Amino acid sequence: MTTSTTTWVRELQDALGTGNVLTDPDVTLAYARDQAMLAEAGLPAAVVLPRSTEEVVAVMQVASRHGVPVVPRGAGSGLVGAANAVDGCITLVLTRMDAVLEVDPADRLAVVQPGVVNKTLRDAVRGHGLFYPPDPASYDWCTIGGNLAVNSGGLCCVKYGVTTDYVLGLEVVLADGRVLRTGRRTVKGVAGYDLARLFVGSEGTLGVITEATLALRPAPASPITLVASFPTTAQTGQVVESVVTSGLVPSMLEVMDRTCIRAVDDMLKSDLDRDAAALLLAQSDSGGASAVEEIAALTRLCEEAGADFVHSTDDPAEGDMLMTARRMALPALERIASSLLLDDVAVPRSQVATFIDGCVAISAQADLVIGVVGHAGDGNMHPTIVFDGTDPDQRTRAFAAFDAILELGLSLGGTITGEHGVGTLKAEWLEREIGPVSLSVHQAIKDALDPAGLLNPGKLFRRAHRADLGALGALTGA
Ligand SMILES: Cc1cc2nc3c(=O)[nH]c(=O)nc-3n(C[C@H](O)[C@H](O)[C@H](O)COP(=O)(O)OP(=O)(O)OC[C@H]3O[C@@H](n4cnc5c(N)ncnc54)[C@H](O)[C@@H]3O)c2cc1C
Repeated sequence: MTTSTTTWVRELQDALGTGNVLTDPDVTLAYARDQAMLAEAGLPAAVVLPRSTEEVVAVMQVASRHGVPVVPRGAGSGLVGAANAVDGCITLVLTRMDAVLEVDPADRLAVVQPGVVNKTLRDAVRGHGLFYPPDPASYDWCTIGGNLAVNSGGLCCVKYGVTTDYVLGLEVVLADGRVLRTGRRTVKGVAGYDLARLFVGSEGTLGVITEATLALRPAPASPITLVASFPTTAQTGQVVESVVTSGLVPSMLEVMDRTCIRAVDDMLKSDLDRDAAALLLAQSDSGGASAVEEIAALTRLCEEAGADFVHSTDDPAEGDMLMTARRMALPALERIASSLLLDDVAVPRSQVATFIDGCVAISAQADLVIGVVGHAGDGNMHPTIVFDGTDPDQRTRAFAAFDAILELGLSLGGTITGEHGVGTLKAEWLEREIGPVSLSVHQAIKDALDPAGLLNPGKLFRRAHRADLGALGALTGA
């Protein structure tokens, strides 16, 4: 540890207590990266675990005084390297700020600290007959702070939207340690810029979220589940399109391609139709006659499109069993080879079948297995490249296929990320999607809020970390 590092580490220890500032490299290594195993990562000089907004303020004040980069981190379940450390940084782990501060049924909202696990919030509001919809598949360990910072989605977005649709207000500690409270507790409110939403999806590059006021909904009914298999992807795509044009809004509409069907069947021996080109799984949680009507309409659409097989059930246990096939898609692909490169392209819903066919072509070209699983109802697809990460040739081909998938998504009018974020993995791709003007607006916002580029450098876009000593000097008073 250099003399200057020793100095700021001591200042952090004075502010937070020695036990909340970890510097042993064997320990800090555990906080170096998220779940994107192939994204670049450095080693934090210190991992800090604040318990209050005041302690986060103290951390940011020390960091800005000494010009130390800060990487905010929740549970580290991210899939794009957005919480990955840079060498010598402070990794600011928010998991000890894990209180559900308030559940207010009258105004149908909850106030939480950022380290609350998504499932903990869902469980806490259920007792009040309420529902917090955003449901990343990692919901039992990812945090609300991470969900907000990446604007996470999940399986029920097709009906309920994504994290940003539930944000009423935020408390954010800015790079220089000032505390911003923005947003509201009211249903409506248009006073000023919508700063709360500026921080949603900012991947920890603009500020540290220390509290969130979140909208809730009434708890939905137990779902009816439908499964259907199709001889061609075109027929599957036809159903997705017909769902949109008919105005049906299922609470879930998921797709698995043949590669995933076979991988899951190999793993679970679940008697899936191995010859099907794709499988659709849908749910309606509207309750009573509405749900029955929705599932009947979905069944008709599947049959009209030429489904080989359609089955529905209102038995929760059977529904859960059918959903297991979807949940097990990634673990099943993982059994084929040691490394997975999981993509997250969203395409217009009319392009879902074309996108899946394009991924099959990329798979043949790269000579690697690529399984496509995704949220068909909102067009958010997760093509997953399966390869041996220890083989340099396979690695090169896997990254080429990853890029080809992003290119394909953009060519179909889609986006490079529907819910996982940009992180380091797609930082080179952001400008290609948003263009130079939008990128310069991003940069201007970043410079206004974090002139020294200390917050989560290298994430989202490459120029985020500016070695601008003038700005740093102004901020630190040097
Ligand atoms: C098996 C699996 C399934 C998944 N399924 C889904 C899915 O269905 N949908 C989906 O959207 N994602 C999914 N993910 C990705 C991941 O779980 C989400 O991105 C999640 O929101 C990350 O939360 P986290 O607490 O782990 O955040 P981290 O990974 O720790 O951090 C993510 C980002 O948030 C920033 N951050 C964290 N806390 C704060 C804070 N308080 N203030 C400011 N910035 C902060 C970090 O700097 C980083 O940029 C999945 C991941 C796994 C491993």
